[in-house]
Amino acid sequence: MVSSRDHGVGEPPRAVSKLQALVRIPTVSHREHGRVDAAAFDEFVAELARQFPLLHERLALTRVHTHGLLFHWPGASAERPVVLMAHLDVVPVEGDWQHDPFGGSVVDGSIWGRGTLDDKGCLAAICEAVETLLERDVTPAQDVWLSFGCDEEVYGTAASRAVEVLRERRVRPWFVLDEGGAIAHEAVPGVRRPVAVVGVTEKGVMSLHLRAEGRGGHASTPARNGPTVRLARAVARLDRSPMSSSVPTPTIELFRRLAPHAPLPLRPLLANAGRFGPALARAMTALGPESAAMVRTTFAITTLRGSPALNVIAATATAGVNVRIMLGDTAESVLSHVRRVVGDRVEIDVLEAHEPSPLSPYSTGETRDDAFGLVEETIGEVFPDAVTAPYVMMAATDSRHFTEISDRVYRFAPFRMTKAQREAIHSYDEHLGVDDFLDGVRWYRRLIERLG
Ligand SMILES: [Zn+2]
Repeated sequence: MVSSRDHGVGEPPRAVSKLQALVRIPTVSHREHGRVDAAAFDEFVAELARQFPLLHERLALTRVHTHGLLFHWPGASAERPVVLMAHLDVVPVEGDWQHDPFGGSVVDGSIWGRGTLDDKGCLAAICEAVETLLERDVTPAQDVWLSFGCDEEVYGTAASRAVEVLRERRVRPWFVLDEGGAIAHEAVPGVRRPVAVVGVTEKGVMSLHLRAEGRGGHASTPARNGPTVRLARAVARLDRSPMSSSVPTPTIELFRRLAPHAPLPLRPLLANAGRFGPALARAMTALGPESAAMVRTTFAITTLRGSPALNVIAATATAGVNVRIMLGDTAESVLSHVRRVVGDRVEIDVLEAHEPSPLSPYSTGETRDDAFGLVEETIGEVFPDAVTAPYVMMAATDSRHFTEISDRVYRFAPFRMTKAQREAIHSYDEHLGVDDFLDGVRWYRRLIERLG
């Protein structure tokens, strides 16, 4: 159903056709460089210029990395610059889609296709907000930068280059806004109101190899406690030895804000989550993998390698461990935990390690942060039914690079998303409601207009 709230039935509004055009260009990221279709990215950059002519005429563009774009829109003041982020690459298509993933068709009131939610929707909404303000000759009160990465889904190199450019130009953003949170419908059991979650930190990521070595040889004369067995024991020990859990401060604030909207028996517990901290953390680890991931560092055993042949004993056995580091833990504390758990007959190789990102300030019952407050009030204006709250992001975004030059990095996409829509990200049937997209355009426009 195409709504007729602001536009006629049949003819999609201008902003929608722009997003459709962008979705139709398959800017798919791959880890292997050779598989990236550079022509598609060239076409995307050209299409963006066609769709947003004023933006390209009035804003200064710096190209970063291969197809990253950094636009500068000078405001009345450069004192408190703001960065709005998005990315133009998408993950490969998988699964069985109801509609062509690169068709960008409007069906049942939604725009369908890879990238509508992650993250061309944000990119098109930001550009359309800027374009319409330029049409009205608006000058923002503060400098506005638009940073659009081209490899967010793989390396995030464009975002780190954009940070270098800003650092060279001595730009210290007042705040940075990237994808991440959303106006999540059906997010919390028992809470009927949608929750507008604004990410204020990201868990860290670490990849490890556990490695056991010993004598290989013929499978007819096995020795006890060979590499494979020692590795298996280490893996099993790690699985039953989690790190300690605790409810992080943004989650306590999230609970406090949800309390008035939760079922009556839960209200006192949520409102006083800080006081019940340790008991609540324990309860959450027991509730299931999602809530457990909210309160502690997690270890996922992913790859396993032993002998390539059925009749040969492995001289080396390895297990890949993907670690998501909780706020409060560090790569070092995780490593010493793993070392203690697996014992000294198993080696640990660190393949990569990124600490949890620093915590950006947010408003609480007692204190108000101006930047978070601006984001929160703009949400309240455009999505009056939503409860806004800070939260800890489980996934990593391009914006982590910006924590090097800004104290306030917020992760929020101003789109309503159902549970099914959130699950469609990186999966199949990704789609964004037409009205929800237009509300997102309005949200970015109001955010820029509200800069003081
Ligand atoms: Zn994304």
